[in-house]
Amino acid sequence: MDAILLTPGPLTTSADTRSAMLSDWGSWDGAFNTLTASVCRDLLAILDAQADHVCVPLQGSGTFSVEAALGTLVPKNGKVLVPDNGSYCKRIVRILGYLGREAVVLPHGEQEPADPARIDAALTADAAITHVAQVHCETGTGILNPLPQIAATVARHGRGLIIDAMSSYGALPIDARTLRFDALVAASGKCLEGVPGMGFVIARRATLERSSGNSSSLAMDLVDQWQYMQKTGQWRFTPPTHVLAALRAAIDQYQRQGGREARLQRYTENCAALVSGMRALGFKTFLPDALQAPIIVTFHSPPDPAYDFSQFYARVRDRGFILYPGKLTAVDTFRVGCIGAIGPDTLRQAVAAIAEVLREMGVRRLA
Ligand SMILES: *Cc1c(COP(=O)(O)O)cnc(C)c1O
Repeated sequence: MDAILLTPGPLTTSADTRSAMLSDWGSWDGAFNTLTASVCRDLLAILDAQADHVCVPLQGSGTFSVEAALGTLVPKNGKVLVPDNGSYCKRIVRILGYLGREAVVLPHGEQEPADPARIDAALTADAAITHVAQVHCETGTGILNPLPQIAATVARHGRGLIIDAMSSYGALPIDARTLRFDALVAASGKCLEGVPGMGFVIARRATLERSSGNSSSLAMDLVDQWQYMQKTGQWRFTPPTHVLAALRAAIDQYQRQGGREARLQRYTENCAALVSGMRALGFKTFLPDALQAPIIVTFHSPPDPAYDFSQFYARVRDRGFILYPGKLTAVDTFRVGCIGAIGPDTLRQAVAAIAEVLREMGVRRLA
């Protein structure tokens, strides 16, 4: 049997989702164009974004779509405020550097949610800032940023908001009718539980229409991708046919299982089973519960000299579970994902496997 991926993408998918990849599709064929259109329609509906937004899918991992959204929507003389409380925020800053778009970093601690009051002050202080780029759930730690308050602040200042909702889209509530944004970016292989390989940008139609000529990359130009798709029903360039077919199947299951609320409920149960089991063993979480999104949990590594992550990882892997290394520089941590086609029993089994491995390794001091 395949190992269970307790990683936030790629993640464990269902047999139905994997089986959807057993057919080949012609990219010019009407049936494939229908598939693309139906997926885009459903991706918009998940945010109730049909009125003012369009869905532009893009080949590649999620970062490709983040880069495409920034490069397409931020004009060459734009200036982007990036509230930074983790590694995916820092990735946005790097992307802006490559794109030659000016970035203003608003540094936060990694245990500190992005602060709407500081964003407000930064926007007041600098009228040249055109956009805010905000990560919703910062997957580097698992912290949840207060998106509704941040969106309201950005809207009050009349600036553009670009949201990296990669690890929250489909599970955490985001309603485009009440939360104003220019673009929201997510991907096939996260909370929708598809396979990795394509991202998508839910972009405000009026903003996208005004964004021709911003992108200095052809492959990453969302205006060009969207206009071509509008005209032909097809993707520009070879589409990720099997990924899209798997995503269609994954969305069908998502809808059958009760949609976003049911998805959040299952992830919340997964997270609770994981955290309570790990705390019972003696582990400490990096974040207090109030800041923790039910997506991925960061644990402090045991301070015991018998502990070694690569040993620990390999032994837990031998028992069928793939863990994730930490992404923090200052403290030694590891991460465990709560998302994927798994339920709380799987997380309990993972905790039991971790307990066995710690005994085997002679690790006693956990915090
Ligand atoms: C997964 C993820 C991304 C995209 O990462 P890829 O490795 O390109 O798939 C971007 N932002 C966040 C918050 C993520 O969780």
